[in-house]
Amino acid sequence: MEETIFSKIIKQELPADIIYQDDLVTAFRDINPKAPVHILIIPNKLIPTINDIEDCDELMLGRLFTVAKNIAKSEGISKNGYRLIMNCNQHGGQEVYHIHMHLVGGEPLGPMLMNL
Ligand code: AMP
Repeated sequence: MEETIFSKIIKQELPADIIYQDDLVTAFRDINPKAPVHILIIPNKLIPTINDIEDCDELMLGRLFTVAKNIAKSEGISKNGYRLIMNCNQHGGQEVYHIHMHLVGGEPLGPMLMNL
């Protein structure tokens, strides 16, 4: 499996605004934020796409959500709300092939999809 820029961020070989890291996941601010709060939460294990997830990854996938919830609270956006997004492959608009959850919020986000 080919490493991406995100592997270097996890290993802190590349600068990033890391706001949380544990044995399973790392969270850092998106370099090109699409909302006042835009944070990426990623597994430390390299999984290129959602299609590559295995049964043994279930614990880590749960951690993505608990970390997202905790960060939403610490960023002060829990009450007003936010959106969690995971893109898969070309039609999903995936650019970096290391699965990641986008946590976006801090303002009304509009419709879920541009054509809705
Ligand atoms: P996706 O289109 O779902 O693959 O999203 C990839 C995201 O990674 C985009 O929102 C990019 O802005 C973000 N990104 C790419 N490189 C970096 C980086 N070095 N640090 C932080 N975020 C990044």
